[in-house]
Amino acid sequence: DTANLADEPSASPPRFRESEWNDNVGYFIKKKLRVWCRLPNRQWELGQIQSTSGEKSTVLLLDGTAVKVSTGELLPANPDVLEGVDDLIQLSYLNEPSVLHNLQYRYCHDIIYSKAGPVLIAINPFKDVHCFGNDFITAYREKLFDNPHVFAIADTAYNEMMRDEVNQSIIISGESGAGKTETAKIAMQYLAALGGGSGGVESEILQTSCILEAFGNAKTSRNDNSSRFSRVVQLAHGERSYHIFYQLCAGAPSGLKGYRLNLKSAVEFHYLSQSGCLAIDDVDDARKFQMLMEALDTVRLCKEDQDNAFEMLAAVLWLGNISFQVIDNENHVEVVVDEGKEYELDGIDWTKVDFEDNQECLDLFEKKPIGLISLLDEDSNFPKANDLTFANKLKQHLSGNPCFKGERGGAFGICHYAGEVLYDTSGFLEKNRDPLHSDTIQLLSSCSCRLPQLFASNMLNQFHMPASPLHQMGVLDPHKQSVGTKFKLETSTPHFIRCIKPNNKQLPGIYEKDLVLEQLRCCGVLEIVRISRSGYPTRVTHQEFARRYGFLLEEDNACKDPLSISVAVLQQFDVLPHMYQVGYTKLYFRTGQIAALEDTRKQVL
Ligand code: ADP
Ligand code: MG
Repeated sequence: DTANLADEPSASPPRFRESEWNDNVGYFIKKKLRVWCRLPNRQWELGQIQSTSGEKSTVLLLDGTAVKVSTGELLPANPDVLEGVDDLIQLSYLNEPSVLHNLQYRYCHDIIYSKAGPVLIAINPFKDVHCFGNDFITAYREKLFDNPHVFAIADTAYNEMMRDEVNQSIIISGESGAGKTETAKIAMQYLAALGGGSGGVESEILQTSCILEAFGNAKTSRNDNSSRFSRVVQLAHGERSYHIFYQLCAGAPSGLKGYRLNLKSAVEFHYLSQSGCLAIDDVDDARKFQMLMEALDTVRLCKEDQDNAFEMLAAVLWLGNISFQVIDNENHVEVVVDEGKEYELDGIDWTKVDFEDNQECLDLFEKKPIGLISLLDEDSNFPKANDLTFANKLKQHLSGNPCFKGERGGAFGICHYAGEVLYDTSGFLEKNRDPLHSDTIQLLSSCSCRLPQLFASNMLNQFHMPASPLHQMGVLDPHKQSVGTKFKLETSTPHFIRCIKPNNKQLPGIYEKDLVLEQLRCCGVLEIVRISRSGYPTRVTHQEFARRYGFLLEEDNACKDPLSISVAVLQQFDVLPHMYQVGYTKLYFRTGQIAALEDTRKQVL
């Protein structure tokens, strides 16, 4: 199982067609039902129509005031009984204010998870919402709970892996600070618990997140605990370098700190003090260091290697305090944990949905040898290539695909299922190469400590690293791949979690509608809901269906063909005719139908 985390590119969001829902307004006006009415400040407010004359309606708002608005500013609101439904596909009216309101209603009640058809929406609570304890894990394992939750997604992925013997992936997307990393940890917590028992490899896996975060995460202006890859030499004001540096300075026991590392407090090091930000609110770096040491013991990294790592870190901090008077052309000092390249995955939007009609778009990315990712990998290994030649190559090879829109200069467009997104190729090749300067590798391999040597040889791919506990668990991959290749999901069944950031202040209880709406639009949540509701998103071949459910039939079916068996099952279990369609090769179901059949099947087994 894999969990992929991709920061969203900031692309111009697609718009929705609201006309189809607007059509209902006439009916609403006549019946004087609840409506959303857009006020002059552009905010949507809930109200009840009182009277209408011509193009204007008088609406009584919840706070008792009556406003006169033109009917063009009205949208139907959902009935009370649908307040706060689990899955947006249950809403009768899918306009933007209704969706925003439903999510806000739940968020205000500390219900941070909702479904949008097949996609789990997770709104960052920025506080502890008390739904991740062992009692919750047990409840989801035993199917006592079925409301939306990361645990439910992880459970489904696990069960589908066991049932279909197909790899599963959980794709977690969202802006920086939306909650991807936390969500991945929650999913891991569940999967580790499924592994059964206490201690052992499960707890090792969970402890790795503490280690990976210390060495790989840092405070940025958008996220106190952002997953980063390079940010040692230069920091933006108000941001921090990797947590580990501050943890080490604050928490190293005196023996290590004084005699071995000759370490001072964080403020004494230029690399740490330059940004005017040494601490994170409510985070105790010294305590975090204790936890890190415990985690390193748990994953059985020996004391000697631990100390080696700390020595390296101290050396980096001291290097930062050296200032050079003369800088000549041969100077390689800058080469010494920075290449100055941000390693974010901006530029590739992984919020893809596996509907069959999405195949052309999938081909655009994954087809070998002329899919976008193959071409990116190819050009990344071609010294003369640059972002512009890459853009031209894309145009040359992909223009035949209707989802590809060539643009001028280094830009190109891709029609995702939710709309067209424009991508700028600048920096694509460099980010995909994920380069490490060969001088750095040489320097590290000449070092007398074991750890940097291992690191360097790993980078050079000269030999496989000896199986450290982290490798045994598959946490670190000794094979170096390009960024694009790592994110290929060809052979696994995807499950989607979309993280939403309700405010930019990282504070609980603040739900900024415009910010949420922008993120919902960007990932096409409303489109997904619409497709899930109107179409038949679940497709099963007659063979598969007959094999799975045929035994439930009362009469002997041994001689019947799969199609006849399928139809007989549907009839015997009274699946309503408008809930499915029978094709030549497959059955097509509306959402929720298979779940009901699975329930019946389980009861019989
Ligand atoms: P991303 O990986 O998307 O950049 P993070 O997962 O690091 O974002 O989340 C940013 C911050 O939001 C976390 O440090 C934490 O404070 C808060 N947060 C995210 N998810 C949750 C959650 N489920 N419960 C409580 N706080 C959360
Ligand atoms: Mg992250």
